[in-house]
Amino acid sequence: MEIIKPKVEVEKYDGIKIMKNIERACRTCYRSEGSITEESYKNLLKNCINRGHESVLEHEKITVRFTCSINSYKDLTRHRTGASFSIESTRYCNYSKDKFSNSIKFIDPVYITNPNDYACWKECMKSIETFYMLMANNKATPDQCRTMLPHSVAAEVCMTCNIREWRHVLSLRCSKMVHPEIRQILIPLLLRFKEDMPELFGDIEYDVDFPKEWYAEITTMEG
Ligand SMILES: Cc1cc2nc3c(=O)[nH]c(=O)nc-3n(C[C@H](O)[C@H](O)[C@H](O)COP(=O)(O)OP(=O)(O)OC[C@H]3O[C@@H](n4cnc5c(N)ncnc54)[C@H](O)[C@@H]3O)c2cc1C
Repeated sequence: MEIIKPKVEVEKYDGIKIMKNIERACRTCYRSEGSITEESYKNLLKNCINRGHESVLEHEKITVRFTCSINSYKDLTRHRTGASFSIESTRYCNYSKDKFSNSIKFIDPVYITNPNDYACWKECMKSIETFYMLMANNKATPDQCRTMLPHSVAAEVCMTCNIREWRHVLSLRCSKMVHPEIRQILIPLLLRFKEDMPELFGDIEYDVDFPKEWYAEITTMEG
């Protein structure tokens, strides 16, 4: 059994290029391509967002890979429009194989702060892994073994959204109302987007009191 931290890996993108591409697409509406300057995208994008002229934001997309719990991807996959997913399948992945180091990975629930509760959680995960391996060694298929996997199991999630949908997802899912495991992965992502594309993400609010030491590590994809 491995207890791991969640992770966020963002594809390499050029924020300025994304914003300028959206500007160029948007200016088609007014045939004002001739007004493009080095800085003109800034006001244009802010005005589009303020007026709700948001379909123009669909011209660009960004892919993100999360290492997160089943808990988290159940929430992420509720987003049906403008979001595409490829998710590690517990129907096909057999965690008793060498490829998975013959173990199940669980996302550390750091927000279970009572040591007794945390010990209960850990004991339960250990016993789930033990019975999973017993069944797998008896030649049960992953389809059969997976029925006992809990929300804490880690999974790789590849999520691609256009900019409009990222704005929507991040607006809904970085607040105090949202499960801590989602805030762990989405607040750092929002902060990255705010820094790189302030005209597109600067207005989105988030839970500023969420402990920074719980933020997932965020990196850029190779290649
Ligand atoms: C704090 C919180 C608590 C939640 N609790 C629960 C819960 O207890 N139980 C539960 O089942 N879900 C819950 N949800 C999920 C929530 O109801 C949505 O299903 C989820 O956030 C996806 O958002 P969305 O509908 O905006 O989807 P998206 O796919 O992101 O849709 C984007 C936008 O497209 C439009 N749209 C998409 N589909 C339709 C449609 N069929 N008809 C009309 N317009 C559409 C809407 O404007 C929508 O906002 C919760 C979400 C949050 C943030």
